[in-house]
Amino acid sequence: MQPSDASRNSTDIRPILGKALAGTRLDRSDLEAILSSPDWTSIAAAGHAERVRRHGDRVATWTAFRVVNYTNFCDIDCSFCSFKDEIESHRGYTLPLEELEKKTLEAKELGCDAIFFQGGVNPKLPLSYYTDAFRMIAGHGMHVRALSPVEVFRLAQKENLSVPALLEVLKEAGLGSVPGAGAEILTDRMRQVLSPKKLSWQDWCETMGHCHRAGLPGTCNIVFGSTETVDDLVDHFCFLRDQQDKTGGFLSFVPWVFQPQTRNFPIRHVKSWEYLRMVGAARLFFDNIPHIEVSIMVLGRELAELGLYAGADDISSIVIEENVLASRGLKTMRAAESYLREAGFEPRRRKLSYELY
Ligand code: SF4
Repeated sequence: MQPSDASRNSTDIRPILGKALAGTRLDRSDLEAILSSPDWTSIAAAGHAERVRRHGDRVATWTAFRVVNYTNFCDIDCSFCSFKDEIESHRGYTLPLEELEKKTLEAKELGCDAIFFQGGVNPKLPLSYYTDAFRMIAGHGMHVRALSPVEVFRLAQKENLSVPALLEVLKEAGLGSVPGAGAEILTDRMRQVLSPKKLSWQDWCETMGHCHRAGLPGTCNIVFGSTETVDDLVDHFCFLRDQQDKTGGFLSFVPWVFQPQTRNFPIRHVKSWEYLRMVGAARLFFDNIPHIEVSIMVLGRELAELGLYAGADDISSIVIEENVLASRGLKTMRAAESYLREAGFEPRRRKLSYELY
């Protein structure tokens, strides 16, 4: 069945998919054709063929980490966010070091090997809050993934440090890698719609480049399902691939869709086939990014399972805590393993660095 959709486009994309599978880099017009095409089954099949070429068809990976939402004070005002609280409102929270340590130890006890330290952009927090937290977490033998580009950028400004100088201090304290958060869609037009106070796409890429050069790898993502156009999606993909050519620190790409968090933000229902087309497109276009992740937390189990047959090789989960999104994720290691086994794969646990256990 062909989807009936405004993006219906009769171009035969099979030659473009064949080009990617023959090892030729796709250009932006190829990507535009793929992301406009209703032929999602061919795209997903080609994405899966490329996944099999890179990683085989046997193994799919998972990881176990705890998300710690350390503060919900934020002065960025993303239009889609319901997590933040106003600075000085006295309603929000910032977790003290003791609470952070309690959560770290609980996570360790549950078998996690990493803390994903995620919060609002809180201009009241001094650098020592982060360095103390990172030292404590790393001191318990846990990997620290923290600070999206906007948090890094703003903290450097506040502390009157260059971004590379700040990253050295944070790395010395224990920071091990950075999340791809805050990218959403990297075009000027969509930045205005989503979060005009966040970094421009140029600053986002430049800050990520500094992280990569400092030896702090991470992920990159897209969050779609709002008012973006195919041009926005293509620009976003091109900016990420260009950045990866320069600094090479993106270990994986993760396609997300916007969640209904607030009534003020227009989201549309992303059809399952559209999501699978995105996964396949990513696997074919990002010839320089090793892994594609699907998020069970956002998509649910059935669609994530199909994503593993459309180009993805990792499910990221399990996640012990997530306040920003209502979690649909896997809760235990056993659940992650049986989920992947039932999906037809040999489950392998990995670290956040993608090193296998
Ligand atoms: S999404 Fe993050 S940066 Fe944006 S307003 Fe919410 S907490 Fe702040």
